[in-house]
Amino acid sequence: MTPKFTFFFAVLISINSLGQDYRWQQRVEYTMNIKMNTENHRLNGDQKLVYYNNSPDTLTKVYYHLYFNAFQPGSMMDVRSRNLPDPDRRVMDRISKLKDDEIGYQHIQSLKQDGKALSYKIEGTIMEVTLVKPLLPNSKTIFDMSFEAQVPVQIRRSGRNNKEGISYSMTQWYPKIAEYDFQGWHAYQYVAREFHEVWGDFDVKITIDPKFVIAGTGNLQNPQEIGHGYQKSGTTVKVSSENLTWHFQAKNVIDFAWTADPDYTHDIQQVPNGPTLHFFYQKNEKTAVTWKNMEPVAVKVFQHLNEHFGKYPFDTYSVIQGGDGGMEYPMCTLIMGEGSQAGLNGVMAHEVSHSWYQMALASNESLYAWMDEGYTDFASEEAMNTIFNEPINHAGNYSSYFSLVASGLQEPASQHSDHFTTNRAYGTAAYSMGAVFLHQLKYIMGTDNFYTGMKRYYNTWKMRHPEPNDFLRVMEKTSNMQLHWYYRYWIQTTKRIDYGINLVVEKDGNTMIELQRVGEFPMPIDLLVKYKDGSEELIYIPLNEMMGSKPKENSTKRTELTSWPWVNPTYTLSFQTKVDKIESIEIDPSLRMADINRKNNKVVVAEISPYKDPTK
Ligand SMILES: [Zn+2]
Repeated sequence: MTPKFTFFFAVLISINSLGQDYRWQQRVEYTMNIKMNTENHRLNGDQKLVYYNNSPDTLTKVYYHLYFNAFQPGSMMDVRSRNLPDPDRRVMDRISKLKDDEIGYQHIQSLKQDGKALSYKIEGTIMEVTLVKPLLPNSKTIFDMSFEAQVPVQIRRSGRNNKEGISYSMTQWYPKIAEYDFQGWHAYQYVAREFHEVWGDFDVKITIDPKFVIAGTGNLQNPQEIGHGYQKSGTTVKVSSENLTWHFQAKNVIDFAWTADPDYTHDIQQVPNGPTLHFFYQKNEKTAVTWKNMEPVAVKVFQHLNEHFGKYPFDTYSVIQGGDGGMEYPMCTLIMGEGSQAGLNGVMAHEVSHSWYQMALASNESLYAWMDEGYTDFASEEAMNTIFNEPINHAGNYSSYFSLVASGLQEPASQHSDHFTTNRAYGTAAYSMGAVFLHQLKYIMGTDNFYTGMKRYYNTWKMRHPEPNDFLRVMEKTSNMQLHWYYRYWIQTTKRIDYGINLVVEKDGNTMIELQRVGEFPMPIDLLVKYKDGSEELIYIPLNEMMGSKPKENSTKRTELTSWPWVNPTYTLSFQTKVDKIESIEIDPSLRMADINRKNNKVVVAEISPYKDPTK
């Protein structure tokens, strides 16, 4: 690079960074030494945490999550599960029946701040720590902790001996400091749903019986020393009879997860211009086929997401058999491994997509699960439907939403994840409504602007904690539209979209159409007019609240009319064509608007004759 170019580059960077209105965020550096006892399923850990207070506030307390404590009879997670009308089938009343040697716990043996002992109070899964020395803004402190933990029998996500016989699924397994951000502390008791975590670096050494293979977050630092071939596909070499210490590092991540099993097969695939992919699974007659078929699909999913949603920020990723379904972690996922080919592909694609929507764009999942699960679902469906040549219509998510509306159980998607009344309302709000939020936004902004915006959102907010407003501002700047109205209606209320065609009449040789906003939720309108001669015309009516209009999305002739004021229940348009030249008229032919009643969206002219002018 020439000096001239260097200068130019430096100027570009500084202008760009001045343009970002980032918030401060806390930072952590964990160094952990873990000794795993595979006889009694307990581990001893030393944890050094360098904690950076980048906030403008002086902190006198900090909070830690002790997630394993949730797996004890009578815990809030247990009580919550037994009181939900539709509990997760993996949990039900199983926690209430755990015996002493089956429960999970994290016991703190010592805790110091900069060498001085700290006092703390533990309630359930939250530990409140009073600092001996207040932590000033823009300063750091060091917490040294010793802890002992018992790995619970697997109930949910974390635990030992999962259904498919994976020995250890180690997630939410270490005392983890809670996130403090501009909204304050997020020291939520763990009742099973979502997370919000601090950005930072992990240096983790795990000492374990040599027959186990470890997979997880980060890069293995000592493959030669532990004798396990991370380099060669299909090899698991075990050389020692002494316990081995596996050393992992991960930089700029929000968490660290790992698994251990004696029977892992390890395959490797390379994504062109992307990360190295590792696959860890127990090989049997079925998985030998399904995992081998899934591996090239994973490569393609990474390629699709890199191209359309921004470049994956790490150099490795591991798909690991473990856990109890599919769960995302930084640089890896734990998934069940023995399902059908389609099921395995689907869960892999979903969890991989979380590397964008959660492991890079780390929104507070407890508050905005729709930005996590919904965006992930959206991206993975777009990737998979492209790979398998299927239409991209997100139809499944629309029907889940419609069915939730019909059930009467809908709650605003802005509800805190833990506090939805039913798992169904939470699940549909987070996954389906989140995905539909984006597909519908594509309808509002126009397809090209939408994808430009999605990439811009990623590049602007990756490795941070984006909020709804951060996303909306990027999309507003990209589309030159006001979009907050849409967010408010879709996420913060349960108001519904329903537009209909009221009237098609001929008057003085012209066709007059009256449209009606039946529901309370206002939207811009695409209206497709098909003529009997086979030609088509798209009538586009922007919503006035948008203060803008979307560009043409395809080659169909388009006519843009004056915008529809959101207070007006009806909108009348007329054009110089006799009614009998028209074949049909349809609101939203792309089916992207979540209109709860599509029966009134289309009129086939031959079915409504004879025409009468109601004004005569
Ligand atoms: Zn997910």
